[in-house]
Amino acid sequence: MLVRLTDAWQDILARRAANTETGAYPAPVRQLLGEMAAAGVLMQGNIKFNGALVLQIFGDGPVKLGVVEVQPDLSLRATCTQVGEVAPDASLSQMVNVNNEGRCAITLDPQDRLPGQQPYQGVVPLFGDRGEKLENISEVLEHYMLQSEQLDTVLVLAADDKVAAGLLIQRLPVEGEGNLAGKTDSLLRESVLGQSEDFSRISILTKSLKREELLGLDAETILHRLYWEEPLARFEPFIGETGPRFACRCNRERVGRMIRSLGTEEVEGIIAEQGQVEVGCDFCGAQYRFDPVDAAGLFTGLPADLPNNLPDGPVH
Ligand SMILES: [Zn+2]
Repeated sequence: MLVRLTDAWQDILARRAANTETGAYPAPVRQLLGEMAAAGVLMQGNIKFNGALVLQIFGDGPVKLGVVEVQPDLSLRATCTQVGEVAPDASLSQMVNVNNEGRCAITLDPQDRLPGQQPYQGVVPLFGDRGEKLENISEVLEHYMLQSEQLDTVLVLAADDKVAAGLLIQRLPVEGEGNLAGKTDSLLRESVLGQSEDFSRISILTKSLKREELLGLDAETILHRLYWEEPLARFEPFIGETGPRFACRCNRERVGRMIRSLGTEEVEGIIAEQGQVEVGCDFCGAQYRFDPVDAAGLFTGLPADLPNNLPDGPVH
């Protein structure tokens, strides 16, 4: 599976650059978030989950949080929270894993979640089997997929200021339905059947793909360069309306609930100080303003929404 985000990725970067509080992402943060965005689309496309796939990094360095959310229709949004200086040549661990306490979480949040039902979440550290810090987010996710799905995965990711791209190769079980069952039994049988040999050959080919090639070449050329000796069956790519694209799911109602969760005292304090409550969406840059009347409405149970602020979808 191969993904190339161009317009969607540039949209995300332009929105960040337009944010006067934060400014544009420094290059290493941009690369991290772009690689997460490409990986999120690949993972959502791979499992075809009926709900949001959320990929998060909780960092212990200057980058505190990275979030990518991909919907089943492949619309996506992404943001990073940075609190300290990031050097122009900062490594992954210097950004998010200074004390080896950084974590990566993959959450599957079902579309029609039942009351009380929790989203499924898997968490993996940013270090390898011997505690060594991993310097590529692709390695972290390969670990995750091996642990959670018991499937061998090779992931190549790259991102710059124009493109966020990724290539995912996964060995599917020979037997059984789907790929989430984790059938150790069939894995054993596969190695007996010599499937491992094919997979390791294709893995080596995949890993030989350079970042510059992934960013600069179109899908056709990449597939030909890597796998020209392999039999290939190609699927129709998802582009345009059906492909990955930027979309934010923020709305006034959700922001209102977030403000309500701060409690009356806190909100009254903000109003006393600033005359209103103003919240900006980190994903798209939209600004939501609640004047004292709107804010009071949040606590009295009266609808804080004005008629022209229609919710943009089902609210969990
Ligand atoms: Zn938004």
